[in-house]
Amino acid sequence: MDFTQFIRTIPDYPKPGIMFRDITTLISHPEGLSASVEALVSHYVPQNIDIVAGIEARGFIIGGAIAQRLGTGFIPVRKQGKLPWKTIGEDYELEYGMDRLEIHEDAIGAGARVLLIDDLIATGGTALAAATLIDRAGGMVVSAGFLVDLPELGGAGKLEDRDIPVHVLCAFDGE
Ligand code: AMP
Repeated sequence: MDFTQFIRTIPDYPKPGIMFRDITTLISHPEGLSASVEALVSHYVPQNIDIVAGIEARGFIIGGAIAQRLGTGFIPVRKQGKLPWKTIGEDYELEYGMDRLEIHEDAIGAGARVLLIDDLIATGGTALAAATLIDRAGGMVVSAGFLVDLPELGGAGKLEDRDIPVHVLCAFDGE
């Protein structure tokens, strides 16, 4: 499947200059969700993943399905203030301003092999903050998987610089 054909591009959303890559058209297609999930699962089956961490919100959809197929548990990496128990948090930079991701402090067993999942990697700020949180919680991010890469923004390279291999299903030029 050519995944790019099923992803809708919305110019100038949420701000001028951004080409928003909308995966809702991929996952609502009859085969889109299962083809995406199966393509990532087949890559990760041999990697002895203990637990999948998905980044709010689109990473929950893909990450939850992957965890179910791998037979692992799932950890939600959430925006600030959403989790009910004690959390640890990590601030990260957005294009304008800062944001914060949180996980429950007891979400990950010591030394657990964690697969990090989100829909798209751009600058890598979000995924790097999530990886830092998982490290701080005692886990080991053994790989990161995305439906879409925007290679010109360099995020995948930043994860690989931190020894986190990146696997993506497709890529788009530009921002
Ligand atoms: P970044 O931290 O720059 O790697 O941005 C990744 C996060 O922002 C992911 O959770 C994406 O869902 C979202 N995102 C960033 N840029 C785009 C884009 N062009 N289209 C869709 N989502 C995006």
